[in-house]
Amino acid sequence: MIDLHVHSTCSDGSETPEHIVELAVTAGCTAVALTDHDGVAGVARARAGATNLGVAVVSGCEVSCVISPGTMHLLSYFVEPGDGPLQSELERLRQDRAERNERLVARLQDLGLPVSFEQVEAAAGGGVIGRPHFASVLVENGAAADIQDAFDRLLAKGGPAYVPKARVDATTLIRAATASGAVAVLAHPFSLGLAAPEFERVLDELVAAGLTGMECYYGRYSPEERAGLVEVARRPGLVATGGSDFHGRFKPDLFVGTGTGDLDVPDAALSELESRRPTTRA
Ligand code: AMP
Ligand code: FE
Ligand code: FE
Ligand code: ZN
Repeated sequence: MIDLHVHSTCSDGSETPEHIVELAVTAGCTAVALTDHDGVAGVARARAGATNLGVAVVSGCEVSCVISPGTMHLLSYFVEPGDGPLQSELERLRQDRAERNERLVARLQDLGLPVSFEQVEAAAGGGVIGRPHFASVLVENGAAADIQDAFDRLLAKGGPAYVPKARVDATTLIRAATASGAVAVLAHPFSLGLAAPEFERVLDELVAAGLTGMECYYGRYSPEERAGLVEVARRPGLVATGGSDFHGRFKPDLFVGTGTGDLDVPDAALSELESRRPTTRA
């Protein structure tokens, strides 16, 4: 069993990279990929924690991308520390997010809502700061009933406190990943919300850009949905990968390795991804 989709405190998960490694071992995983949003800062910590535990730590990240007619999440694996086209894109996205977050605090304050940057930083616990952290501070300060209320009335796209952030095109990011020696995988494909013919057209476009795999064994998908996706992945020759999308207590129904309980991603998914690693680095 392996798990190729896990978030830590380095983005929007509640558990540290070190603890995630322990959870993976307990679940019986032979490998776990850390896939925090927009960066690989947690990987070194996870690797240090994994010494002598018999679990391999795969360096990964997840990025929200634009693909006409909507958005999708792209997972990249074998992301090396240091320089590269993918690493530059990630840095640009993190920089833009930091600026967006400052504008978001100002916007909320303009609306007369109680929130400070320090509180948001504390809510993020040192990880990547995102709208959910703003939502949790608004709840804490009594300005929203719960997280969903904060989004519905303020933070959601089109809301009075919505401040957009930079977007990267999916095909651009796939090419950057490939040029950096990494492989790109489409995360939770149903999130695109596209029906078969349109979905297959988008998939072709992604494959043409160098997409290597598709997340078929996803924590929240049913066994039937997973099997259906494995079939879809077969035609364009994509590796059928999978993972839990563990976020700790922020998605309490999901566990490392087993997802909602019945997930069992085959080890072959990782060896197949490894065999598709681009040999030349830009
Ligand atoms: P950010 O990357 O900072 O824009 O935050 C994106 C995150 O906010 C997503 O991963 C979701 O967890 C959350 N989110 C976005 N839109 C909504 C919404 N309408 N309702 C609840 N949560 C949302
Ligand atoms: Fe997340
Ligand atoms: Fe995602
Ligand atoms: Zn995720």
